Amino acid sequence: SADQILEKRKKFLGPSLFYYYQKPLNIVEGKMQYLYDENGRRYLDAFAGIVTVSCGHCHPEVLNAITEQNKLLQHATTIYLHHAISDFAEALASKMPGNLKVVYFVNSGSEANELAMLMARLYSGNLGMISLRNAYHGGSSSTIGLTALNTWKYPIPEGEIHHVINPDPFRGVFGSDATRYAKDVQDHIEYGTSGKVAGFIAETIQGVGGAVELAPGYLKQVYDIVRKAGGVCIADEVQTGFGRTGSHYWGFETQGVIPDIVTMAKGIGNGLPLGGLAVLRVIDKEKRQAHCADVGSHLIGRLRSLQDKHDIIGDVRGRGLMVGVELVTDRKEKTPAKAETAILFEKMRELGVLLGKGGLHGNVFRIKPPMCFTKDDADYLVDALDYAMSEL
Ligand code: PMP
Repeated sequence: SADQILEKRKKFLGPSLFYYYQKPLNIVEGKMQYLYDENGRRYLDAFAGIVTVSCGHCHPEVLNAITEQNKLLQHATTIYLHHAISDFAEALASKMPGNLKVVYFVNSGSEANELAMLMARLYSGNLGMISLRNAYHGGSSSTIGLTALNTWKYPIPEGEIHHVINPDPFRGVFGSDATRYAKDVQDHIEYGTSGKVAGFIAETIQGVGGAVELAPGYLKQVYDIVRKAGGVCIADEVQTGFGRTGSHYWGFETQGVIPDIVTMAKGIGNGLPLGGLAVLRVIDKEKRQAHCADVGSHLIGRLRSLQDKHDIIGDVRGRGLMVGVELVTDRKEKTPAKAETAILFEKMRELGVLLGKGGLHGNVFRIKPPMCFTKDDADYLVDALDYAMSEL
């Protein structure tokens, strides 16, 4: 039972893990966009295991690929040849613009970013890395420094990592003025890193930070500044990749730039710590990018209508199926509605919808379901939110 699991978890897994919901949810099964608890109750999964289950829980084609491969061979490493590794690298490269044609496989987003940072430093010969405030790039000993959320209190060795102002159109000091935010990068390079920099890393929609889409035109200006200072430009596509944004396959394309290094994880494996050709195949075959655009615009449209009805909705933002709903108690002051968010979050679970939450003040609902999420699912989610907000 949930209670027994919780007791064991507390005893053997230590206090660093946290869980959602006052009474934690015990999930026993998943099918596409649905999760089932120990009592067989079905939930609409609007968070996809933190944006990881891209194709859907236990998608039959992905499941089949995993099963067949496991029957044949589980592990041999790259010291021998195996077609799957080079086939997948080729498929991934075919999705990339420009010179982005060489792939290196690791096991997680943190490792990918760690390696990208190492490459940037070795290539440039410089030490200073720049990341955005409100960013999440991993929890390993070196990427934790790139991660710049208010909850992170990791001491970063001086001169090594600089956190610049994130160009947040809703809360940012310069609104949507990309040029003024880009100037902050220039200033950090001039005064913080003596004119030289190893690299710059950013998500195009900050995920854990609360679905904050960077002001349009920002990356173009920053990439120029960083490259002039000898640095390498890294796009973290751990959450924004694989067509989820609907309009583009990769998040960086929404800003019209081509990075030097792209890192990815999560959705690449549909829940396994590896990249799978079957995942790319399903996304293509089932036209998931176009589907995300279609369902996403329906969802965002309906959420915007809901915003007219409920003052608590301060901002609705995002692209495709990477959506954020920021709750405020006062629209003008943008006062974070922390307590209300917590209540609504529990209420939505009661109504059978599992949301994500995040943002600097913990007042943003993150809606990032498996990409098989339908318009009916979106309607159910919005109706449930409407009901919960009306009750509130
Ligand atoms: N980058 C981003 C944008 C992420 O959201 C995450 C995970 N939340 C990571 C990197 C780290 O990935 P992993 O948890 O696989 O190490």
